Amino acid sequence: MLETTTIGSFPKPDYIKKARGQFARGEISREALKELEKKATEEVIRTQEKLGLDILVDGEIYRGDMTTYFAELMEGLEISGLVRSYGNRYYRKPVVSGPVKRRGPMTVDWFLYAQGLTKKPVKGMFTGPYTMTDWSFNEHYPTRRDLVLDFAHQLHEEALDLEKAGAQYIQIDEPAISTRPDEIDLAIEGLQIVTEGLRAKTITHICYGDFEKVYPRILDLPVDQIALEMSNSGYDLLRLIEKHPFTKELGLGALDVHSHVIETKEKVKEGIKQALEVIPPERIVVNPDCGLKTRTPEEAIEKLKVMVEAVGEVRAELN
Ligand SMILES: [Zn+2]
Repeated sequence: MLETTTIGSFPKPDYIKKARGQFARGEISREALKELEKKATEEVIRTQEKLGLDILVDGEIYRGDMTTYFAELMEGLEISGLVRSYGNRYYRKPVVSGPVKRRGPMTVDWFLYAQGLTKKPVKGMFTGPYTMTDWSFNEHYPTRRDLVLDFAHQLHEEALDLEKAGAQYIQIDEPAISTRPDEIDLAIEGLQIVTEGLRAKTITHICYGDFEKVYPRILDLPVDQIALEMSNSGYDLLRLIEKHPFTKELGLGALDVHSHVIETKEKVKEGIKQALEVIPPERIVVNPDCGLKTRTPEEAIEKLKVMVEAVGEVRAELN
């Protein structure tokens, strides 16, 4: 009960930021960059083991951002903007210019590499069809629905490949869901295709708040667990859950990833206890609100340390 995990991204160390810049300017090879990304991925795995997290992630060190990474690996997509800029915060949107299609597995090699470094389970993870659509310019498909469904079929193949590679957990990130409540049906339809027939535990992560407009409808998302940003809104969603029971596992966001401030253990414990008033401990997984990539490596570790300690104390109190 009260297993601990993270949402997916870890801060990129300075040597990775530097190497991405060098690669973008043609100063180092793709292989040289990849070697450094493997080194950083191993460091992320060791950090998580040392912290005592239960379910690990690969840290997404190899991704620029969560949509362009996939757009660059698929047919039918281009990237907007004139300057190819890796490793900074500048946002370039994918442009859909033809039928979207995987050229092959997009995350499986990284999953296998990360899982090969540890005995603990590592989550397989990728960006979901609704978010891929919402964060792209569509210049090809007649409707957004057509694009969501095509992305969904391609991402279903990715999920099957991850499962074949041994992933026990498959997380499909859909942060865009809560920003367009009128399209929740479409998001559900897309995820239905992605998760069809999977045996792995399925998770979706949603952030950016405004859950009042999509709750309880998000409970119809065809996944086992929903990981939600909660601490930075003062756990408001728990009041909604009081009125309408949460029927899935909850990934309880218990660290504000947008703040430099390191939470106190008491504050994290308080959040977990509030959640325990409405959901039993075997259906709560504790994680940060969102990915940790915007924090410094030191802040990320400090925050996670507090989270793991807080969970340990709450577990002890429950026993
Ligand atoms: Zn998020």
